[in-house]
Amino acid sequence: MVTVTLAQRKSAVLTPSGLACLAGIPTINLTAGCAHGCLYCYSQGYSCYPGPGRVVVYANTLEKLKSELTRKRKRPQAVYFSPASDLFQPVPEVLELAYVILEYLLTQGIGVAFLSKGRIPERHMKLLRSKADMIRAQIGLVTLDANVAARFEPGAPPPVDRMAQIRSLRAGGIRTQVRLDPILPGLTDDGEPLDGLLAALAQAGVDCIAASTLFLRPALANALKAALTEVECRNLLAHFKPSGRLAIHAENSTVTALPPDHRRQILTRVADVARRHGILVKVCACKNPDLPSQCCGIAGDWPANGPQAIQHPLFPDIERTRHDPADSTE
Ligand code: SF4
Repeated sequence: MVTVTLAQRKSAVLTPSGLACLAGIPTINLTAGCAHGCLYCYSQGYSCYPGPGRVVVYANTLEKLKSELTRKRKRPQAVYFSPASDLFQPVPEVLELAYVILEYLLTQGIGVAFLSKGRIPERHMKLLRSKADMIRAQIGLVTLDANVAARFEPGAPPPVDRMAQIRSLRAGGIRTQVRLDPILPGLTDDGEPLDGLLAALAQAGVDCIAASTLFLRPALANALKAALTEVECRNLLAHFKPSGRLAIHAENSTVTALPPDHRRQILTRVADVARRHGILVKVCACKNPDLPSQCCGIAGDWPANGPQAIQHPLFPDIERTRHDPADSTE
């Protein structure tokens, strides 16, 4: 059960991001809080987080957006719907707002990039397909295991639906990347869960994914403790010992991360399994500044971005042979 509150946004709608991969691409949040209620959601630590089961919808977003764009001398080429809330969360007010904002941006010639775990309604899908070349989609999918997904993403549609959605987006000519983030240590980082997911993605035509492992913040650790059994929680948190603090570029904050060797081991394994299925893995540099990593292309490639800089590729052989901004997927 989700409590929805309509609010008037006071701050600007278009927010510049400090992330290198979002240079020149402002972000938009339609809500504070998200009905998907993922236990690992990083936004639980944000000051605007309204609490579990609560969603605040910024009802005046369209009016403010229009006025901001009218005043801008240089309009952005694209905007990114921030992953701190999901524009396709199952709340009618959010879906309606998402539709009118998407429609407005696209009619203004402004491209749209988004990351979602939600179910895209047919009406929205039709709109996205009608402007396929102006859309960069990322679908968040960390497992195919319906039980694990239900445990960690209680309000999001099951993995099988998201797989169908990936196929549908791709069939509509929309560049669609998958985000395997966070990889849950001990649960989704090895064996059949990992191999099965990557095999299914390859079968759906996905040839590139972005990946990163779980990290913790106090609010997130508390959410895990509140929702999981003691044993589940202990098993998951045991991977963080010895715990290490890591300053990440994402939100310029410090988090508790898996030890670097463990993270490297997991990400290398993911890349190896992915390679066997013909999938390129981009490791998110903002969350792994201490590891060889690269721009994970969170908002996709846009011509004005120029080629996305790739530094110290973790998997140089794949990078050389597979990275091509003109690929059909990001
Ligand atoms: S879908 Fe994204 S924004 Fe929504 S709760 Fe899950 S992780 Fe957070």
